Parts: sequence; C-alpha cells; structure tokens
Amino acid sequence: HAKADGRKRERFFAGEMEVQMQLRHALEADLRAAVENEEFELHYQPLYDLRQRRICGFEALIRWNHPIRGRVPPMDFIPLAEEVGLIVDIGRWVLRRACSDAAQWPEGIKVAVNVSAIQFSGSDLTKDVGEALAAAALSPSRFELEITESVLMENLDEVLPILHALKERGIRISMDDFGTGYSSLSYLSSFPFDKIKIDKSFVNDIADNKEAHAIMHAIILLGDALGMRVTVEGVETAEQLALLECEECDEIQGYHISPPRPVRDVPHLLALPPKNGGVTRLPKTRR
Ligand code: C2E
Ligand code: MG
Ligand code: MG
Ligand code: MG
Repeated sequence: HAKADGRKRERFFAGEMEVQMQLRHALEADLRAAVENEEFELHYQPLYDLRQRRICGFEALIRWNHPIRGRVPPMDFIPLAEEVGLIVDIGRWVLRRACSDAAQWPEGIKVAVNVSAIQFSGSDLTKDVGEALAAAALSPSRFELEITESVLMENLDEVLPILHALKERGIRISMDDFGTGYSSLSYLSSFPFDKIKIDKSFVNDIADNKEAHAIMHAIILLGDALGMRVTVEGVETAEQLALLECEECDEIQGYHISPPRPVRDVPHLLALPPKNGGVTRLPKTRR
C-alpha cells in the first residue's frame, strides 16, 4: 500500500511540477511582452526624515499591471526577470522613469532605485545610470542606488569598482534589507555605504519586546558609528515611530508614513502635515 501511495504521490508531484513549468513559461512570455507593451509602472514610497520631520525622498518600487492577472507583485516576477536576463531592460526602464519623475519634484527631494546583481554583470550600470540622469537633467546628488547583500555576494571583485565609480560621480549607495543575509556585518566593511536600510523584520516587535528593541538599538548605533545614514524600513505604527525618535535613526519608511503610491500622488504626499511621536529631539548637525 505504502509503495503504491508513494508512486501515486510521485506522479502527482511530477504533474504538479509540469504545471509549474508551464506557468513559468507563460509568465516569461508575458514578461517579454510587458517590456514592449509598457505594462510596468513605478510607485513611490516616502523616505521620512525624523529630525526634519518631513519627506526627504521616495523609493521607486516597480509594479506590473498584467492585462489578465492584474497586479503582479515584484517578488513574483523580479526573480524570473533576473533568471532570464530581462531585468537588464526592465532595470533600464526603471532608471529612466525614476529619474524623469524625480526631475519634476522639488530640489532636495531624492529618488532611490533598487538594482539587481545581474545589472552589475550583464550591463554597464555606470553608463545606464549616467544616461538616465543626463536624459532627465537630474543631479546625481538626488539619486540613490539600493543594493542588497546578494549583489555583493554575487561577485564582489566585479561589483566594488562599479560602486566606487558611481560614488565618485556623486551617487549615494544604500545597503538594503540590512540584517537579513548571512554575513551582513562583514559586507559593511567592504564598501563605504552612505546609508543602511534596516530590514522591516527588525521593527515588528520593537514596541512590545525588549530584546527586539535592544537589537534595533544596536544596529542603529552600528550604522551611526560607521558614519552611515540609518533608515528603518517597515514602520507601521505611531509607537514604533516614537521609539525610533529616541534612537540615532535618521530616516523611516513604512505604511505609517504612507504605502507606495502612484507618481501623481507625490505632490499630495509632500503636502501632508508632519508626523511625530511626540519626542523632542536635539538637532544633529553632522549630516
Ligand atoms: P525593498 O527594496 O526592500 O522595498 C520595500 C518593500 O517593503 C516594498 O515591497 C514595500 O511596498 C514594502 N513595504 C514598505 N513599507 C512597508 C510596511 O510598513 N510594512 C510592510 N509589511 N511592507 C512595507 P514591494 O514594493 O513589494 O517590493 C518588494 C521588493 O522587490 C523590494 O524590496 C525590492 O527588493 C524589489 N523591487 C521593487 N522594485 C524593484 C525594481 O525596480 N528593481 C529591482 N531590481 N527590484 C525591485
Ligand atoms: Mg529597496
Ligand atoms: Mg528593503
Ligand atoms: Mg525587501
């Protein structure tokens, strides 16, 4: 019995796998068409400066409006786009659109763009970023590049010179999702990041759990000690904001300020009243 059941299960899994493969192929074909049909859109989420109590920039987050499936989240197509190399074209589109959108915003409002490891190896990222900035006449000082640890893991020797070249041109580099990888700490010493973005998984319990708060406190101090700007991602409540106001945290991002919104909502977001947790902070003049 057990043996027959096992075989049945194997056949079931084989069938399941085939369905998965077919879905993947369909998605890949759609993804190729999406580049040409301009089915992508950028949404923007505020980066909120805790000291100045105002929005100081926006992170560009890609959205795919599939004609049949509707909105496909980035996590459901970015990995596939990376695997089949389409991320290079999509990434170029993101760079251009983000720069031309940001050029319409007030001076001093920055734009942050996420890039994949493939964009470092499969294309000339320095050139692509330079062209996007030039086409929009956007100052490099208003542009931030967000990379995750996986970008560095992929090929440190190839990536580091590119990061240095970008930095020499006045572009800021942020370490995204900090704390989620295997060796986050060692990567911090491999490149002088301008900013670390502490992953949202660390903020969840800070209001209710002493240990979670202690870990957050320590990571913020680490980033600050290394002279980096520190952003906390995934801030969802007023309590979390109030706690972070007591830390050396520079910037927050999260649903409590605003979820990512279409570009037409940017003026409205910039006009919102300041949010604070009621903590009076001493201004820091270092940055
Ligand atoms: P990320 O760069 O870490 O972006 C932050 C993600 O957290 C976004 O998810 C955002 O919507 C979400 N988020 C923001 N505030 C909160 C909050 O308060 N609570 C919770 N639970 N989530 C929050 P999204 O837009 O689904 O993007 C997911 C990931 O996809 C991004 O993570 C980034 O790694 C990748 N991605 C997005 N756009 C691009 C792109 O243009 N190029 C590349 N290569 N990757 C992208
Ligand atoms: Mg990011
Ligand atoms: Mg992140
Ligand atoms: Mg993330």
